[in-house]
Amino acid sequence: MNAYFRCINGCETYPLNEVIYQCKKCGDLLEVVHDVDSLKGKSAEYWRNTFRERRAGYKFPYTSGIWNKKEWVNPLMDDKYIVSLGEGYNPLTPIPAIANELGLSNLWIKHCGNTHTGSFKDLGMTVLVSMVNQMIHKDKKNIKAIACASTGDTSAALSSYGSYAGIPTIVFLPHNKISIAQLVQPISNGSIVLALETDFDGCMKVVQEVTKDNTIYLANSMNSLRIEGQKVVGIETIEQLDYNVPDYFIIPGGNLGNVSALGNGILMMKELGLINKVPRIVLAQAENANPLYLSYKKDFKEFKPVQAKKTLASAIQIGNPVSRDKAIKTLKVFNGIVEQASEQELADASAKYDRYGMFTCPHTGVALAVMEKLVKDGRIEKGSSVVVISTAHGLKFANTKALYHENKLDGLVSKYANTPIVLEPDPEKVRKVLYEKIK
Ligand SMILES: *Cc1c(COP(=O)(O)O)cnc(C)c1O
Ligand SMILES: [Zn+2]
Repeated sequence: MNAYFRCINGCETYPLNEVIYQCKKCGDLLEVVHDVDSLKGKSAEYWRNTFRERRAGYKFPYTSGIWNKKEWVNPLMDDKYIVSLGEGYNPLTPIPAIANELGLSNLWIKHCGNTHTGSFKDLGMTVLVSMVNQMIHKDKKNIKAIACASTGDTSAALSSYGSYAGIPTIVFLPHNKISIAQLVQPISNGSIVLALETDFDGCMKVVQEVTKDNTIYLANSMNSLRIEGQKVVGIETIEQLDYNVPDYFIIPGGNLGNVSALGNGILMMKELGLINKVPRIVLAQAENANPLYLSYKKDFKEFKPVQAKKTLASAIQIGNPVSRDKAIKTLKVFNGIVEQASEQELADASAKYDRYGMFTCPHTGVALAVMEKLVKDGRIEKGSSVVVISTAHGLKFANTKALYHENKLDGLVSKYANTPIVLEPDPEKVRKVLYEKIK
């Protein structure tokens, strides 16, 4: 079984253990190509059973939902170099009360943030760091550190997986633009943390320059190894639905790698005969960072980067997304829709679903707001089944949530604010208030 990098324009291929992120001929992005014919040598039934059996046991590396699908993700990995922190196997939670309210047959949230560092970035980072680990120790490549630019979650994942494997990591963060919870992760894991006085797009430029020196390996999502791990999200979700393909997947997007990962995984399932139809994919953007939405409005005929404005969905505050061509390609294949959500809409949507026992991050709020918008205007038909991809754990954004509930978010009115009731410790007074509340 084999796999290799190929330029997305098809001009050249490269081995997976080469330190390379862009095509040497045209400069465009690379993608990982799998030997689908040899994978087809095994039946759909074989793959379904294998995935199920691996999940039922405790054998490394199948303790990871990503390496559960090793042959589909990176068949060239030796198990002994795999760096895993038990990522994947994320819960898929039905929300019947809201499905009912909206007239959907089913609504699920796929919790990709229930993972080691609290975001879906772990799903791809295990693949990237494992491969680098193998390149250092097996292929004897001279790689001294791994670096990334980040809106917070990529750096948290990189620092954690890197330090677990004993590989130094360097993270470039936009100064004062990420949450405390996100900043404290790479600091705790001992990364070299550089806070640059710019935004994400500015950090991206610097890290691309610095990693031209091949001894510092680039971990951004333009590195398509990560996409191979993230690809498992759609596969695992459909598996959890016993191979009943939902009508829609809704996913928030910033740098736009994850949407193509989602699409690639589903296409692989179809090619290998595990499913016979595909869902539509909806890409949700924050109105304050919406270049793909603007391009979609013009049928993708042009794409203009924007200056991203501040958004509560800080991980998608990106104006010049690196993986835009991959995303557009995926959206065309999946009859895709791009829609946006305002700050008010994303904050309220996030808070609304929390009232149903969730604890959603602002990016998930963007996806939820967009989903409700499409259901209400009929673009998602009544009776549809819908999966919303939740990208991070709400605890990373506890500060934003606290401000929301205190009604202190700039320019917003918090529809679902819930504030603590301050009382004297007097049982009579407490009882009076309680009976008022629960009557
Ligand atoms: C990285 C990230 C996204 C955006 O994913 P892209 O692949 O850049 O589109 C969305 N939500 C969260 C929480 C993220 O960390
Ligand atoms: Zn090329």
